[in-house]
Amino acid sequence: MNSANTPVVVVGASVAGMRVAQALRSRGYDRPVVLIDRENGTPYDKPALSKAVLTSPETNPPALLDEVGLRALDVDLRAGTTVTGLDPTARHLVTSDGERIAFGPLVIATGSAPRRARPLDRFGGVHYLRTWAEAEAIRSAFASRPRVVVVGGGFIGGEVASSARQLGLDVTIVEAGPRLLGRLMPSEVAKQVAQMHGEHSVRVVCGRSVVGGYGTTEIEALELDDGTRLPADLVIVGIGTTPVTTWLEDAGLSTTEGVRCDSELAVHGLRSAWAVGDVAAWTDAATGRVRRTEHWTTAREQASYAANAIVDPAPQRPFRTTGYVWSDQHGVRIQHVGEADATTTTRSQPAGGDERGWLFVHHRGDDVVGATAFNAPRELLEIRRRLADTRNEAQEVAQ
Ligand SMILES: Cc1cc2nc3c(=O)[nH]c(=O)nc-3n(C[C@H](O)[C@H](O)[C@H](O)COP(=O)(O)OP(=O)(O)OC[C@H]3O[C@@H](n4cnc5c(N)ncnc54)[C@H](O)[C@@H]3O)c2cc1C
Repeated sequence: MNSANTPVVVVGASVAGMRVAQALRSRGYDRPVVLIDRENGTPYDKPALSKAVLTSPETNPPALLDEVGLRALDVDLRAGTTVTGLDPTARHLVTSDGERIAFGPLVIATGSAPRRARPLDRFGGVHYLRTWAEAEAIRSAFASRPRVVVVGGGFIGGEVASSARQLGLDVTIVEAGPRLLGRLMPSEVAKQVAQMHGEHSVRVVCGRSVVGGYGTTEIEALELDDGTRLPADLVIVGIGTTPVTTWLEDAGLSTTEGVRCDSELAVHGLRSAWAVGDVAAWTDAATGRVRRTEHWTTAREQASYAANAIVDPAPQRPFRTTGYVWSDQHGVRIQHVGEADATTTTRSQPAGGDERGWLFVHHRGDDVVGATAFNAPRELLEIRRRLADTRNEAQEVAQ
């Protein structure tokens, strides 16, 4: 039987899980906290994996918290422990070595994993990028100066291509959609990114799918759906992610597009449980739509929100986010906030910025619904603040 002192258990100790623990402690929560992660070692931050970690042999991804910080946090960190099941009635987790861990409040923060390119499954030299070990494998493969093909024209694909070019490698991006960043950004922004790739000699092939590969064991070339044979010594696949929920298969929770939770991030069908970060499929109170975001900042915002709910069970306002995300490509910082499915997008070059500085503002009717900046952080911040204010005001009125 779980008692009031049964620990808060957080499954996943990456940016979202770690942030839950930090936010609990900073709000004075003094009960036991257990933080579980299947990876060994000190939890680290992922964004550097496609950037500095790939281009510099001395760079490791930053630790989310150093030794001193971890000790001060006073959590029971179970690194190298994989959770394989959850019993919602007994309220315990099961680990791969058969241990049962009772939970009081539970936070699910198991993130997402790269979607596989099945036609390439049998080949060596085909990589995915989510963990430090995977980044190290790509970095060491870069050392033999391979011809690189990046499959997928999203943010991570663009960053890997940019890192490979920084090392002087021959790089092609293959994207199945008609343009880069199809799911994520308006076409004007995608065009700007494509232009940057062109200026840095990255070949971009859009509208072509990878249907197979050539090679005996190691990949030698990709087969595209128009019959093109594209030489490749190293392939990095970045075609989106799926939420990590297989460990919840027998728990009776809804997990088809992520762990389903309400607009307060509370998990459907499990009392006193929240889902945060890339794994959470939450109802956006503003639109009524179910969303799953894969942004570092949203993961942290959700973690703080869930920690608040644990500390103070009084209802909060629904979770809201301006959806901030950034990406670094070819020495340019791209930042986006708000929505991307605008009716019109205007482009301007901020005064006093560098020559690669651009601001794209996304409108729906007369409303500004989002913006994307290229090396224009101040302009982006201003719009980000305005969007946050507008959303709060709208919410106050609605209440
Ligand atoms: C290479 C790369 C670059 C990125 N760059 C940017 C960027 O520039 N800007 C940006 O906004 N976002 C970026 N992101 C996205 C951002 O890092 C993610 O949104 C963020 O990591 C999500 O955090 P999370 O804690 O929800 O999940 P994750 O970081 O995926 O962490 C989930 C954790 O759960 C653990 N876990 C999973 N299953 C189990 C289990 N069964 N038992 C125990 N532990 C488990 C995993 O080991 C992992 O540590 C990048 C992501 C990657 C991979």
